[in-house]
Amino acid sequence: MERRFGRNDVLLLVILAGLCIGGMVLVHRSMTSGSLVQVMIDGELYGTYDLREEQTISVETDGIILNVIQIRDGQAQMTEADCPDQLCVHHAAIGRSGESIICLPNRVVVTVLGTKESEYDALAR
Ligand SMILES: [Zn+2]
Repeated sequence: MERRFGRNDVLLLVILAGLCIGGMVLVHRSMTSGSLVQVMIDGELYGTYDLREEQTISVETDGIILNVIQIRDGQAQMTEADCPDQLCVHHAAIGRSGESIICLPNRVVVTVLGTKESEYDALAR
């Protein structure tokens, strides 16, 4: 039976290692859920907001409210918009790093950022 030590054990180790890496990726993914929301109008930074803080953001230019973003339970959602298509309002809430809601007619882009560090990375690029 000692002869059985070999290929099968190596295979088992490979499977275990794979599961281990898979688990680590899952943990990493949950850790990269966004913590900041960045709002851009026409390519210019409008503001950065904390995703862990419940708040309502009115995005306005020249006193006209374009979009209203609501942050709740770690997720951001476009609740109101004066655009004709209303696509952004119907977009699901976002909460993961890299996700975004784009309001094309208003050129408003809401993006979830990861940690502050990754925000600096993005700026450095
Ligand atoms: Zn819109």
